Amino acid sequence: MQTIAIHELPTSQVFAALDSNPQGLTPDEARERLAQYGLNVLHEPPRKPLIRALLAHFTHLMAWLLWIGGGVAFVAQTPTLGIAIWLVNIINGLFSFWQEYKAEQATAALRRMLPSYARVRRAGAEMRIPAEHLVPGDVLLLAEGDHISADARLVRETELRVDQSALSGESHPVRKTADPISGIGLSHAELPNLVFAGTSVTSGTAEAVVFATGMRTAFGEIARLTLSVGDELSPLQREMERLTRVVSAIAVGVGLFFFVLAVAIAGIDLANGFIFALGMIVAFVPEGLLPTVTLALALGTQRMARRNALVKRLSAVETLGCTTVICTDKTGTLTQNEMTVREIWVGGRQISVSGVGYAPEGSFSECGALLERPADDPELRRLLLAATLCNDARLIPPHTMTPEDQGHSNNGERWSILGDPTEAALLVAARKAGIDNDAEAQQIPRIRELPFESRRKRMSVVCRLQPQVAAHRSAGFVAYVKGAPKETLALCTSFAVGNSIQPLDETQRADILAANDQYARAGLRVLAVAQRLLNAMPASFEAEHIERDLTFLGLIAMMDPPRPEVESAVATCHAAGIRIIMITGDYGLTAESIARRIGIIRGAQPRIVTGAELDSMDDAALHDALTDEVLFARVAPEHKLRVVSALRAQGHVVAVTGDGVNDAPALKQADIGVAMGRAGTDVAREAADIILTDDNFASIVSAVEEGRAVYANIKKFATYIFTSNTPEAVPFVLFAFSGGRIPIALNVMHILSIDLGTDIVPALALGAEPPEPGIMERPPRSLKEHVVTGAMLRRAYLWLGPVQSLAAMAAFYYQYWTNGYWGQWLDLPADGPLYRSATAMALAAVVTTQIGNLFAQRSERLSVLRLPLMGNRLIWIGIATEVILIVAIVYVPFLQDVIGTAAFNPVNWIVLALWAPALLLVDELRKLVIARRK
Ligand code: ATP
Repeated sequence: MQTIAIHELPTSQVFAALDSNPQGLTPDEARERLAQYGLNVLHEPPRKPLIRALLAHFTHLMAWLLWIGGGVAFVAQTPTLGIAIWLVNIINGLFSFWQEYKAEQATAALRRMLPSYARVRRAGAEMRIPAEHLVPGDVLLLAEGDHISADARLVRETELRVDQSALSGESHPVRKTADPISGIGLSHAELPNLVFAGTSVTSGTAEAVVFATGMRTAFGEIARLTLSVGDELSPLQREMERLTRVVSAIAVGVGLFFFVLAVAIAGIDLANGFIFALGMIVAFVPEGLLPTVTLALALGTQRMARRNALVKRLSAVETLGCTTVICTDKTGTLTQNEMTVREIWVGGRQISVSGVGYAPEGSFSECGALLERPADDPELRRLLLAATLCNDARLIPPHTMTPEDQGHSNNGERWSILGDPTEAALLVAARKAGIDNDAEAQQIPRIRELPFESRRKRMSVVCRLQPQVAAHRSAGFVAYVKGAPKETLALCTSFAVGNSIQPLDETQRADILAANDQYARAGLRVLAVAQRLLNAMPASFEAEHIERDLTFLGLIAMMDPPRPEVESAVATCHAAGIRIIMITGDYGLTAESIARRIGIIRGAQPRIVTGAELDSMDDAALHDALTDEVLFARVAPEHKLRVVSALRAQGHVVAVTGDGVNDAPALKQADIGVAMGRAGTDVAREAADIILTDDNFASIVSAVEEGRAVYANIKKFATYIFTSNTPEAVPFVLFAFSGGRIPIALNVMHILSIDLGTDIVPALALGAEPPEPGIMERPPRSLKEHVVTGAMLRRAYLWLGPVQSLAAMAAFYYQYWTNGYWGQWLDLPADGPLYRSATAMALAAVVTTQIGNLFAQRSERLSVLRLPLMGNRLIWIGIATEVILIVAIVYVPFLQDVIGTAAFNPVNWIVLALWAPALLLVDELRKLVIARRK
């Protein structure tokens, strides 16, 4: 099919050439072609072979250290230790690989939650299908912001401009046409009547017939050559990698120091000295830190997804926790985007409309008196008719089954809509008055549309009048315009009263604007509607030519109630030290009214800066404005970029929402770009870091909370892992400084069994802690703050670590004392079953105190009593694994042999168990002091 020079054909022949027709394919044809051509997907690039991914976990710096360490142990004639170190290395590698795999799966699952759709016409009906079901011959319907999912030949277009940068690198939008082109001297991508997969519509609308899908598209050809997944590490992952390297270097330094100490002071032979040094290195190196961080981030993305925020990059999870300002638009994010027309101003009269939602049931009343036949009221009828004809929305009655139409079938009890809610509200109001817009659209067919643009804040259509009407009005065509009141009124020169048209004077303008302000103050969103009769078909359809000398028809004011959950989300933000700045295309008074209602604006005199004012402000003035309580209204998307840049220059970490094509630069510029999953365009979704599946502001706040929690959790498990390093080092220091007379309470094998055995699952459990109470009552963390801080190291090494060391050494001595070595502080026998059981006691003491530590780490500042006991199931699983492992190490003969332990009297567990609450108590004391000091 692709061999046909499709671009050379006149549009009339395109359908036949592609075995299609203007009504689109039938479901059967579509099914057959799907079977013939396959799914419209790009083949995944060959993944890194599993074996290589696996090997990577055994060949990094730390792993090499352990391989070499194990090898030296063999040379030093301690084969059990050699085997153990290697075994630990293998287990550690496999575990890291598993964590990486889990993290990848979590991200892949997220990608599956982001399917893309395409709008097509099939069997005469417009429908939304998954983009992967597109087949050659499908009639593709394109609108501003749509991602183009297949290669297609245009058959109709209105002002279509396409961003082809993904394909050609050309960053300016390319103007497209439906006309046939000879194609001589043009490359495939330059053919202006073709659109390509992987590109997107920046403006205009179009219809095109698909001629290539999947790997046969131009993008597929490139993908074949270049597709590769860039696994970029997030800043936190990079910091962890750096940290692991630094700590490893320190560990090696410490190891060498102890080696010299052991040989010089304790008089140990070289081989044993080396093994001790190795023990130190193994004790201090945070082996599992990086994979655990990656997994914690990935699990964070899963939790965020459950709370309606899909994160596209792991690094966004961290940045979210640092957010200091959220710039949000209003319609749909703060409000429900369910519009209902409430008030109408027409010919100086104020008319109220009743009814809820999109059900076309309601009545019209004027000054409390019911209008019996609203459709017979000429002014009202003209206004509503114009509003329904200048309209692209569709109303869908309840229980309308449209097979295959996944996006739009309405199987529910309620009326639903297709398209822009603002426009749908107008259709509903017209229906309430008895105006059937489908019938009217046939009578007064549209010949051209000037689509809505957020910069113009207007939409217009040009329609052909019926001959009899045309004769009566001495005009062949009519332009209907609707848009922002002030901006539209400025283009009006006359206004309609009754059946006559009168020039518009300043008093009437003032009256109209006063009515507009009155509605806006009540939080209503107001549209002005106007028309212009045209004698002949316009020569040019540029907006400037059509949208002038208009006749004002009236105002339509609609209610878009705030989302109920937003008010508390806003309060949460304020408590969390996060500013919210509303940046809306809507009118200042409407925006202020809504902002006040949900608590974004609290002061009596907020600054309302309009787009026009923003244009005239220099950077210093904008910086000034941003220090006040400020709201941006009647802005174009470009203004968003400026506000975001200014806030970032002030050092803020900015999250910004957006849904349109022109929002993309701001979404990219912000630290966190947030796009709408439902109402947003594909382009915005592509530019964003986060996609809200419910378009709801409250979900951003939940994501911030999760972002903070992930970071806090990483700190928790790092502190947890670091704590046990002190008791691992202390026995060796005592051993060295006593000149070898106090036998070493924990040897290398013991240390390994803690770090790579008992500590692992509990550390993971801390990585999965839910956000702790009060996490949103603290100011945001600085982006520059490190995970590992001095305070954290002090808590681990100098506060909790010493308690654990005390426990370990006390347990060690306890075993000797209770076995007849009372009073012999030094000179304890260093071999035999008693020594082994004493080391088992020391080991068990570290493990039991780590259980206490697990509870202590669940919060850095809050008492454990304030945390829900069952809030995290993994904590209990972690404790269970710890207990099972330590009991096995003490009592299972095989493990006794490998690790070098011997059984001790089970009654001793009572003594050991007391250390867990003791350590917890010590940390509670610290928390109490901190709380008091505050
Ligand atoms: P927000 O930016 O908070 O989402 P918004 O939806 O009002 O608010 P825009 O979509 O940029 O922002 O719309 C700007 C203005 O354009 C609206 O306030 C309204 O007056 C007008 N407008 C919106 N939709 C249409 C439409 N479909 N046809 C004509 N005018 C419209």
